[in-house]
Amino acid sequence: MTAKRVVIVGGGGAGDAAAFALRKKGFGGEVVILSADRDRPYDRPYLSKEFLRGEVELEKVFLHDEADYSKERIELRLQQRVVAGSLAGKMLSLQSGDEVKFDSLVLATGGTPRRLPDAPDSYNVLTLRSLRDSQAVRDALKPGTRLLLVGAGFIGAEVGASARQLGKDVLMVESAPVPLARALGAEVGEVYASIHRARGVDVRTGTTVKEWHSYGGRVTGVTLSDGRREEVDVVLIAIGIDPNLEVPRALGLHIEGSGVRVDEGLRAADGVYCGGDIALHPHPILEQTIRVEHWEVAKYHGRGIGSSIASGHAPVTRLPYFWSDQYDVSLEYRGYASGDDEAVWRGDKEALRFSVFYIRGGRIMAVLSVNDKETNEIGGKLVESRRAVDSRSLADAAVDLAELVPTAG
Ligand SMILES: Cc1cc2nc3c(=O)[nH]c(=O)nc-3n(C[C@H](O)[C@H](O)[C@H](O)COP(=O)(O)OP(=O)(O)OC[C@H]3O[C@@H](n4cnc5c(N)ncnc54)[C@H](O)[C@@H]3O)c2cc1C
Repeated sequence: MTAKRVVIVGGGGAGDAAAFALRKKGFGGEVVILSADRDRPYDRPYLSKEFLRGEVELEKVFLHDEADYSKERIELRLQQRVVAGSLAGKMLSLQSGDEVKFDSLVLATGGTPRRLPDAPDSYNVLTLRSLRDSQAVRDALKPGTRLLLVGAGFIGAEVGASARQLGKDVLMVESAPVPLARALGAEVGEVYASIHRARGVDVRTGTTVKEWHSYGGRVTGVTLSDGRREEVDVVLIAIGIDPNLEVPRALGLHIEGSGVRVDEGLRAADGVYCGGDIALHPHPILEQTIRVEHWEVAKYHGRGIGSSIASGHAPVTRLPYFWSDQYDVSLEYRGYASGDDEAVWRGDKEALRFSVFYIRGGRIMAVLSVNDKETNEIGGKLVESRRAVDSRSLADAAVDLAELVPTAG
């Protein structure tokens, strides 16, 4: 029996995609989105890039026009925070005291930026997750501003690039030896350190903030672990997120580490699905369990969930994909590698046009490309094929990679 009323908790990439996919697949029952956000679903990746730089106007940032929700009979309820619930009673409790019933439930609650415990709770110490956060960072980047970025992961690195493009003075402080180390490994991280330095960012790696200096309720400077004191006007703490697991926890779902354990089709319990940043997914093609904090993954999770609820449970097989744009450097990544995988380089690192293949047991697990879209697309096909590939062929620019992709049939 198909559900009559699907309730989606979370109005982000996964939640919004689930709602529209339900309709696209012909679901005729009620669809309700409960979102703690003040704004209707928007394109989060813009918030550290084009929107932050003022290149894209507000209306373009939203995923849909307001009218699309009524046209598709999607009841979008903003500023509604779910705080508890019961799977047996098929019911959620909201912070307002209201209760909401469901037949099927989708949880896509995303994450909350971590803060540093010793950082002052000051108006010029910011984090970035929501549209309003991005507006606050944008407003804070006044002429002559010196921005301190604490953390050089994707958000820190992208905001650093945007701020430099806006002509701001940027100090980037990262405890790891290179930027983006956790996501991209040491060697590619080193390339990114050079990219930022060449564009005028003051990159201090292997460094932390030791002391915060405030005056009149605002942070005015920091003393770093290298002993140097730096004056700053605005601080962005960008040290990652904690997935929002309060609701899945309250419902008694299986939490493992920092994710909700789901099956290959993203189902966490009978009639309950989880997608996006919170889902710990046994990926059917990669044959490993992964939790991925990326936009396209959240969207295809949402689409997969909508489709499963509307037309029958099915595995979600798409390969993880993400991108990051910093200055004129465009990074794309398909698959999922771990730090132990063998890295095979192809292309020209100095010219910033290269790809890296990550190999485990003879098979390609992931491909990372910098300004090399074509290789990334073919690389994705090679990952999907699960076929053993010779590392020398991957590294050899004379080999046409397309010829390594097995043909159908
Ligand atoms: C600034 C920024 C830039 C990014 N750029 C990129 C990029 O270039 N490429 C890329 O691949 N990824 C990027 N990402 C990551 C990507 O945006 C996330 O992985 C994606 O948004 C996750 O989608 P989600 O649906 O799981 O969560 P979210 O999009 O975070 O949505 C979660 C939703 O749940 C709501 N919510 C939370 N708790 C509750 C509750 N208890 N009750 C009701 N509602 C609740 C929130 O208000 C929100 O609406 C970026 C992220 C940020 C913050």
